[in-house]
Amino acid sequence: MRRIAMTGMLLAFLFSLASTGAQDEPLQGFTRDTAATERDWEAKFRALPSPDNQREYMRRLSARPHNVGSAYDKENAEWILSKFKEWGWDAKIETFTVLYPTPKERVLEMLEPTRFTAKLQEPPLAVDPTSNQQSEQLPSYNAYSIDGDVTAPLVFVNYGLPKDYEELERLGVSVKGAIVIAKYGNSWRGIKPKVAAEHGAVGCLIYSDPADDGYAVDDVFPRGPMRPSDGVQRGSVLDFPSTSPGDPLTPGVGATPGAKRLAIKDAPGLTKIPDLPISYGDAQPLLASLEGPLAPKDWRGALPVAYHVGPGKTKVHLKVSFNWDMKEIYDVVARIPGSQTPDEWVIRGNHHDAWVNGAQDPISGQVALLEEARALGELVKQGWKPKRTIIYCAWDAEEPMLLGSTEWVEEHDKELAQHAVAYINSDSSGRGYLTVEGSHTLEHLVNDVAREIPDPETKLTISRRLQLRRIETARAEDERRELRQRADLRIEALGSGSDYTAFLDHIGIASMDVRFSGEDSSAGIYHSAYDDFYWFTHFADTDFVYGRALSQTVGTMILRLADADLLPFEFTDLADTIHLYQKQVEKLAGDERAEIVERNKEIEEGVFAAGNDPRRPQVAPPHADVPPYVNFTPLDNAADALTRSADRYQAALKKAWPAGLPAATMQDVNQKLMESERHLTTSDGLLRRPWYKHMIYAPGVYSGYGVKTLPGIREAIEEKRWAEADSEIVRDAAVLDSESALINSAAAQLEQAAR
Ligand SMILES: [Zn+2]
Repeated sequence: MRRIAMTGMLLAFLFSLASTGAQDEPLQGFTRDTAATERDWEAKFRALPSPDNQREYMRRLSARPHNVGSAYDKENAEWILSKFKEWGWDAKIETFTVLYPTPKERVLEMLEPTRFTAKLQEPPLAVDPTSNQQSEQLPSYNAYSIDGDVTAPLVFVNYGLPKDYEELERLGVSVKGAIVIAKYGNSWRGIKPKVAAEHGAVGCLIYSDPADDGYAVDDVFPRGPMRPSDGVQRGSVLDFPSTSPGDPLTPGVGATPGAKRLAIKDAPGLTKIPDLPISYGDAQPLLASLEGPLAPKDWRGALPVAYHVGPGKTKVHLKVSFNWDMKEIYDVVARIPGSQTPDEWVIRGNHHDAWVNGAQDPISGQVALLEEARALGELVKQGWKPKRTIIYCAWDAEEPMLLGSTEWVEEHDKELAQHAVAYINSDSSGRGYLTVEGSHTLEHLVNDVAREIPDPETKLTISRRLQLRRIETARAEDERRELRQRADLRIEALGSGSDYTAFLDHIGIASMDVRFSGEDSSAGIYHSAYDDFYWFTHFADTDFVYGRALSQTVGTMILRLADADLLPFEFTDLADTIHLYQKQVEKLAGDERAEIVERNKEIEEGVFAAGNDPRRPQVAPPHADVPPYVNFTPLDNAADALTRSADRYQAALKKAWPAGLPAATMQDVNQKLMESERHLTTSDGLLRRPWYKHMIYAPGVYSGYGVKTLPGIREAIEEKRWAEADSEIVRDAAVLDSESALINSAAAQLEQAAR
């Protein structure tokens, strides 16, 4: 579809067209003839996914704990394999051998001022039939914590982020030689032990405060969906944002039998201090015992304690040790070969391993993937022949840190760089609004598809429902104006936290992560023994209609990518987004500078000394050097050049397309479109973490799953490395210039064809 800024009325008109099928509208990447055939197949496809099938798959896959290395994890992989084969796919299991620690010993006790021993157990609940499978459940722990045995005073550090330690400093409290207790949330969990160790702590506890995912949010399980007092969030603490995800012993290469392996002691990314997650039931006596200053107001949670930061007399003993075993992991990989360009691969994935029974995470996404696979198999039986090869993957070992997908990508890196068109991921999914994060070259495609999928509850399209929701929650007039006028709804960028990471960040494959969310809360059972079939069928997408909508949405994108004459990549959305990021980093630099100037002035004026309450003394912040101005000119020029090339491509396409393209031109331009995301990477990668090749999107070194866009520039500014900000601007500008050159050369070919 041609992209124009539409008025509200025209937009409403197009939405109404979309909801009635929009049969006569042009379809991006298809000619008038091929569009009609494509719409036919897509309509047939969307009628096939069944909520009842998804319920039965979930019942089967979540019936027993299926963590990495468990018997049921392997059984599930074999069952998924048999299903793909039954549906006519060419399927196999690819195996890797990885380092996977499980708990050997876990002790947490308070020695002073009173004695208390933490339970560290999630008890079975009578109404929940799988919660009693304790002999197969993995105890609560954080994977890739080191072994350790420490006894030390305890300090409460809020969420355990760098700015929390700045506040502690002002309160005159140090964590040097202490065990810290941090709340889960506001960052990926592995940031907490990392920052604690950087500040000299000797151990780290992470607990789930009821303010964030317990009774302060909603009733707790089993009466409601939220975390009960003994519920614990497991999870990986491998420091992947600073190193890389995947098997810690084989960074950068597939963990095959013959791969060269590091010694465990040399594995990058293991924590520097022992770490253990606990429930709020276990955390409460520890927090109640703390003395020292009161925690700042916004640090306090919903437990009935005053929340002091410590340390006082509290002394805690933490001992954890692990079985540092090698485990086999099982990726199920299934193909439908392409009929015309089999060397162009459209890839789809969702993991199958879980921390415990994992009905929500990951089976809610996996069952949608399976129904897509069954439906695509059915289309093939009816005579459908996709142009390109379609590859469906059920990944193992996502939970310990994306091991199954990362090892597969590292093993097949050269083929993927040559053949991959795009990767579409899902993981946990629920009820509510379409939620998409991804490459902005695909923003237009997902918008086009979302205009055709009905929302199960409102019967609006999922696109229209999302647009109205965003208007409702927008904070400012200009946000609402954009929501009403911009042709495509914006998608957020990808950070990390699921299996798209290696595809996007390591190889530069245009990627997307898709789910439904917003009307149910899975936070309360996340990574606990209560994330199971009973919970899902009582509190989440209980009739699996959003599971069907997920199959319809993702499956339609797969069909379109696999069938299009000209790949449905689009660059004006990308250019517009780059301009947004450019403005953000420029404002960030200005704000950082202004803040330092103001603080220095207040120190000189004596503001902090004057406001200091002698009964609750605080330390004044230190004087800081005023940063130099950063030179953004190369970025400004590169962003403008990208806009010009994107506009040129759209104009050329509009002129050339009605007549179709000569086969050779089509092939050339498709090749360029496939490479367009690769051009946003550099072979050197990001500074200090060269596994990450993408220069526009990356997980944050101090946010983890949270994305940093233009990461080289943004993190240099945030961490006050001003000279580095200047040199990263030059590197990012070069990457954008290379993207513009590629788009210009594709546009030139289209212009040639139109002559
Ligand atoms: Zn997951």
